[in-house]
Amino acid sequence: MLNISNLEVVYNHIARVLAGVSLEVRDGETVALLGPNGAGKTTLLRALTGLLPIHDGEITKGSVLLGDTRLNGLAPEKIVRQGVVQVMEGRRIFVDLSVEDNLLAGAHSQRGSQSAALQDIYQQFPRLGERRRQLAGYLSGGEQQMLAISRAMLAQPKLLVLDEPSLGLSPLMTREVAAFIRDIRQRGIAILLVEQNAAMALNLASRGYVLEGGKVVLDGESQALMEDPDFRAFYLGTGAQGGAKRNFRDVKHYRQRRRWLS
Ligand code: ATP
Repeated sequence: MLNISNLEVVYNHIARVLAGVSLEVRDGETVALLGPNGAGKTTLLRALTGLLPIHDGEITKGSVLLGDTRLNGLAPEKIVRQGVVQVMEGRRIFVDLSVEDNLLAGAHSQRGSQSAALQDIYQQFPRLGERRRQLAGYLSGGEQQMLAISRAMLAQPKLLVLDEPSLGLSPLMTREVAAFIRDIRQRGIAILLVEQNAAMALNLASRGYVLEGGKVVLDGESQALMEDPDFRAFYLGTGAQGGAKRNFRDVKHYRQRRRWLS
């Protein structure tokens, strides 16, 4: 369904941040996009959702296709209409509006069936239903994230793009949000999941891509990634020595090894 091919992105006409990235999300598939800070994950999402121009960025090579439709060059609202809906990092909900009004803000494109769609969401997540008249600001961090995802669902996405849904959440809330995303996955909606929390992401995704320095340095089935010793050491914080997170020297060693391997 989503086919990103050989994508190159440049900011301010000079800084090349993505250098030939290719990535695929098949129908109904959940795919994880992983990588350290500054790897280019947000830039890839901006390229997908049409938000690069407002950040002085442009696609200088490659293509972004949803089915047969070319998305690069389309305005953000047209990309949403094609079915690519992003939940931004940081749960951008309206804290001074009720839960229901927050949801309605995502339902404007299909007014006819709004109430059926709301009922569907409340059935799927009863806690939102119980609190539909409360201010969204009173929800817990995990509930706010679920509200943000539910609002995106009301726009009836073909591809749901989640940017760091576990950011700032406790382990318990992260597990709740993960269960919620699993429910959505079971409805057959394709998901592109950008996460720093690699373990959470690969538990949800069938495949993953690792982006470093604007390039895909590793990709494969989630299970294979979780068994890859380099990946385990750097992204899961477990390796031959077990347990502890790697320090910078180890990271450098990892990078050197990757260069050898590539
Ligand atoms: P993070 O998890 O920290 O957001 P990321 O993997 O999403 O990291 P990006 O935000 O895409 O990475 O940033 C990739 C590189 O592009 C960084 O070096 C960043 O400084 C640079 N960059 C991002 N936005 C701009 C911009 N508007 N203008 C110039 N450079 C930018």
